[in-house]
Amino acid sequence: MSESAKGKTEKQAIEQIRLHSEQLNAAVLGAALMNGDVTALAQSITMLESTNTVHQEIASAIVQNCLPQSGNSLRLGITGVPGVGKSTFIDAFGMHLIAEGRKVAVLAIDPTSPISKGSILGDKTRMDQLAADAQAFIRPSPAAETLGGVARKTRETIILCEAAGFDIIIVETVGVGQSEIAVHRMTDFFLLLMLAGAGDQLQGIKRGIMEMCDAMLITKADGENIKSANFARAEYTSSLHLFPAKESGWIAPVITTSAIEKKGLKETWELISKHEQWMKERNLFHAHRQFQDVQWMHDTIKDALITDFYSSDENMSRIESVESDLKEGKITAFEAAKIVLGKR
Ligand code: GDP
Repeated sequence: MSESAKGKTEKQAIEQIRLHSEQLNAAVLGAALMNGDVTALAQSITMLESTNTVHQEIASAIVQNCLPQSGNSLRLGITGVPGVGKSTFIDAFGMHLIAEGRKVAVLAIDPTSPISKGSILGDKTRMDQLAADAQAFIRPSPAAETLGGVARKTRETIILCEAAGFDIIIVETVGVGQSEIAVHRMTDFFLLLMLAGAGDQLQGIKRGIMEMCDAMLITKADGENIKSANFARAEYTSSLHLFPAKESGWIAPVITTSAIEKKGLKETWELISKHEQWMKERNLFHAHRQFQDVQWMHDTIKDALITDFYSSDENMSRIESVESDLKEGKITAFEAAKIVLGKR
């Protein structure tokens, strides 16, 4: 055998061992995770979030193995401006669900985390009861540069949590824009938390977000706040009725809650269950998830195409070469794009 052929077979053998150990790793971690081992769940999510390609391959294999055991949960999206009371509510609501025999996972989508250098759930003490409970699993937002990256990882994390036996998955996001759309696209029920007496504009909640919600909770309905909370409830109930009806015919109800006094938690759960039944009776529950899966595929394709495009040196030099003409107004942005795309 020639020296180069020998080197090649050695390389192939090493590659095979590497592949084999990856498969073994994925199998061991995946089996422990599906057995409800929370440490294995946390380790798998860390691999999913890792930038190391070997870790990512192991994580992909785990997600793939977990798929048959996933899907058996209710996925809740929760949004509202900072200070509205999301974490206090999730803490109280999560404990309420645990008392009913549920297992609750709380994930976060926080596209601002690379800038603020800390995710919205980074500080676990924000949900101290849940954080200390064995039936709960709290995971901060992954540090990814793009919202698309965060959303993909969170979607895969949902699968892993479900396979580990969590039957309520709460995805929390801050009410700052695009992230609500991402959460809406991966959950079965979308809950919007609002303050009484602050006004929509003040709360920065866009009309589109209000239109998307399946229920609205007026938070902090306790003490001196009760009166204004009831007033806000009546106001929002009529404004939600003005939005075009959802395809399912479901009209988002508005209720008042106090996480501190543990009021409205049972009612919130009843609403969510009623909505689930509503969707299932109309054969829309699984149809909605199927639709989300197809959307997810398209999002993944778009992400991959964009990444491929911008990682090509040839494309980058084409961009550079048209940029000055574009800046000097010699060509339009549309023309420039066509040239870069090789269509001119
Ligand atoms: P988040 O930023 O949306 O997660 O909001 P937090 O849960 O951190 O709550 C913001 C502030 O509102 C904190 O000071 C809480 O103590 C307070 N808060 C939260 N829920 C309630 C409630 O039900 N009643 C009252 N009175 N205060 C609350």
